[in-house]
Amino acid sequence: MYLDNSATTQVSEEVFEEMEPYFMEEFGNPSTLYKIGRESKKALNLARQRVADAINAKPDEIIFTSGGSESDNLAIKGIAFKFLNQGKHIITTEIEHPAVKDTLNFLESFDFKVTYLQVYENGIIKIEDLIEAITPETILITIMHGNNEIGTIQPIEEIGKIAREKGIIFHTDAVQTFGKIEVDVEKLNVDLLSLSSHKINGPKGVGAIYIKKGVRLVPLIHGGGQERGIRSGTENVPGIVGFGKACELAASQLDEHYEKLASIRDELIEKVLTTIPEAYLNGDEEKRLPNVVNFRFKAIEGESLILLLDAKGYQASTGSACSSNKLEASPVLTSLGLDPVDVHGSLRVSLAPESDEFDVDEFVATIQEAVARLREMSPLWNQELDYDGVMCSKHGDNCRMC
Ligand SMILES: *Cc1c(COP(=O)(O)O)cnc(C)c1O
Repeated sequence: MYLDNSATTQVSEEVFEEMEPYFMEEFGNPSTLYKIGRESKKALNLARQRVADAINAKPDEIIFTSGGSESDNLAIKGIAFKFLNQGKHIITTEIEHPAVKDTLNFLESFDFKVTYLQVYENGIIKIEDLIEAITPETILITIMHGNNEIGTIQPIEEIGKIAREKGIIFHTDAVQTFGKIEVDVEKLNVDLLSLSSHKINGPKGVGAIYIKKGVRLVPLIHGGGQERGIRSGTENVPGIVGFGKACELAASQLDEHYEKLASIRDELIEKVLTTIPEAYLNGDEEKRLPNVVNFRFKAIEGESLILLLDAKGYQASTGSACSSNKLEASPVLTSLGLDPVDVHGSLRVSLAPESDEFDVDEFVATIQEAVARLREMSPLWNQELDYDGVMCSKHGDNCRMC
């Protein structure tokens, strides 16, 4: 049972079928004038229309990219370099995806100043903090819509309203919300918005950025002038076709999928919190995605939990240090003000609408058993055991978990 849909999703049958002809028969370059090229161009236009329709934008406001990461980079660097002479201050949050966070860190090495808004215990920023952070130097606000680890949803509409009043460009990463809750660029008051295909049952390596009419930015990739000169390079036609189809499907099934996912999510939260001792929900209880749940269990190590669950056929993820190649506990969970030891005991479950055969009771029983087993061995759970002075080769002698 695959429960890591925030990491990636399976390409759906309809998407795959739509893409297939564009690998072999319809291989034309969309920039060429003869029939086979024109056919590719037509396919691109249809995909552009589908993406635009799914977010209430116009087709000429959609630029195809290689995915969410590129869209985030393009939005942030593109605006930063365009408005270099008008100010060098950017506002964001503590819990952005690395595609935003690391891009901002990069800009800091070029003298940009970045304010990281606190998200508090529920994982959501306070509007007062945003208003306070704005200076005459502020050129960009970039705040994600839905968080990929804890599933919390930021007040994008309100943030967008403030940005517009102050004349500041506003970007949001909507990779996790798109296809899960309504993403309407008009209602959200955004200037730039990032999308990715592989999080909505489309192929990997393709995505888009919405650029509101009139907003100017500097391209990341220069060259043949494709995508109105904003993103040069011969288009990934099969990928874009698949992404377009995935958008159409996601938009047409939005309400149905929301109901289904939210009900499984709520059942899962209720059962985990009531049957497993010292289990907690990370992030806001209400302002959250229908498909992402993040728990923490006292005195266990997330990576061990993931491995035990995997052995029982469940693929989920954790914000624990050991599981990432950075050996650093999830900055998102740390931003909630949790004790770093508790951050190690996290479990993220991200559901897919097609997981019909998912049995919540069976899954909760499996977690319960795994958690109990890990706690039996946990010095933190069995406080009488002395763990002082135990040295962990990975994290040094401060590690109380390994
Ligand atoms: C997955 C993800 C990205 C990156 O998208 P890619 O298409 O994998 O580059 C960016 N932001 C968020 C919130 C994500 O979940």
